[in-house]
Amino acid sequence: MYKLIDGKKISQEIKDELKVKVSDLKAQGKNICLAVIQVGNDPASSVYVGNKKKACAYIGIESLAYELPEETSQEELLALVKKLNEDDKVNGILVQLQLPKHIDEEMVIQTIAPEKDVDGFNEKNVGALCVGSKGYVSCTPLGIIQLLKRSGVEIEGKNCVVIGRSNIVGKPMSLLLLRENGTVTICHSRTQNIKEITKQADILVVAVGKPKFVDESFVKEGAVVIDVGIHRNENNKLCGDVDFDRVAPHTSAITPVPGGVGPMTIAMLMSNCVSSVE
Ligand code: NAP
Repeated sequence: MYKLIDGKKISQEIKDELKVKVSDLKAQGKNICLAVIQVGNDPASSVYVGNKKKACAYIGIESLAYELPEETSQEELLALVKKLNEDDKVNGILVQLQLPKHIDEEMVIQTIAPEKDVDGFNEKNVGALCVGSKGYVSCTPLGIIQLLKRSGVEIEGKNCVVIGRSNIVGKPMSLLLLRENGTVTICHSRTQNIKEITKQADILVVAVGKPKFVDESFVKEGAVVIDVGIHRNENNKLCGDVDFDRVAPHTSAITPVPGGVGPMTIAMLMSNCVSSVE
């Protein structure tokens, strides 16, 4: 029988721990403030931003919301980011992606001061992860490491396979697993004989962005499977990159969608905000 890795429960534990830390910091006169910028009113982005504000309120972090119209120019957005970079009251800056097409996302990300880049997307923070020095790490992969550790899954010495090499998930995930002394292989769209590789995995992280891409033929018996994907299926229900019903019986542990990786991303964003002051 497989174990269900409960991201909802683990993220709640983390948020409760952070709440205590924030209250201790407040007692020392240290407040934490996160600026959240959204451009346009994409419904999914509005849900994500709303959840981030809710988590801030729960933990005791002040959130400043900047809801900018769709037609905001790149110059206006960059000017706001630079103003927040200079504002001593603001500890973290988050620009909700996706941005409208007329704005260069990469330029916005690189304009956020590295010490306020709580999403961990700035080149300086990515470089720090690469060389093993201190810096913010992308929240989703950071959350996955917490899911594994808090579920008692040993990473050291294990064969870890990551499907996906995006800057936000796949690459930082691989670097974090390596930092935990896993033996890491990355698969992507040009990988040949992918199943031969994924079947070697003790820990398989799937961030491919394709609904139910991974079925039981990708998975070694008894592996731990982490599903990063989020999609709506034909019945408008959430599903992941892994075909849960077919894969779960072959695993020793697996994350569900929803309630697996998703809740961890916000918990780790909060954790990054707290460490900005610690
Ligand atoms: P992405 O930027 O689209 O990257 C997908 C990766 O999968 C790419 O590296 C691509 O390879 C690889 N790929 C595509 N087709 C493949 C195939 N047939 N075989 C092997 N590899 C293949 O996606 P992402 O941003 O990493 O996100 C992945 C999923 O996670 C999405 O469903 C997204 O919604 C979800 N997500 C969830 C959270 C959360 O909080 N739960 C956070 C972020 C993302 P190439 O590089 O060769 O193109």
